Amino acid sequence: MALENCKECGKEISTKATTCPHCGVKIYRWGWGKKLIAGFVVLWGIAFLVALVNQSPIDRDATQATLEAAKARGLCERALEAQLKAPSTAKFSGAFDTRAGKSEAGDWIVAGHVDSQNSFGAMIRGHYTCRVQPGKEWRVVRAAFLE
Ligand SMILES: [Zn+2]
Repeated sequence: MALENCKECGKEISTKATTCPHCGVKIYRWGWGKKLIAGFVVLWGIAFLVALVNQSPIDRDATQATLEAAKARGLCERALEAQLKAPSTAKFSGAFDTRAGKSEAGDWIVAGHVDSQNSFGAMIRGHYTCRVQPGKEWRVVRAAFLE
């Protein structure tokens, strides 16, 4: 029978004892089930940290791209409004109906549509493409309605 020292009174006790026969303190022992669970928790924690470290730059890039796309879309909408007969009636395609992508040159290309009143007061839909150059000062290179 193996012996160890009680953490409370320091006297020798059996490694299988669940209470100290000298001072009566409860001795907490980890069974294999608890060890297994603890092992899984630790492994899961490590896997989570590894995933976090690996994923975060991608997530950051995705967030950055989403923000840039929204900015490009906003600039395009303002540039296009200036070309409309009745800008106050303009209803632009939303984030999910508007395509925005980065060109090889690094410009944002935005394509969407806008409903607005024409000179006769009728609501008409116009499709557009727009090119925005990012930088210190973002610049709308071209914003045009498709014929
Ligand atoms: Zn004891």
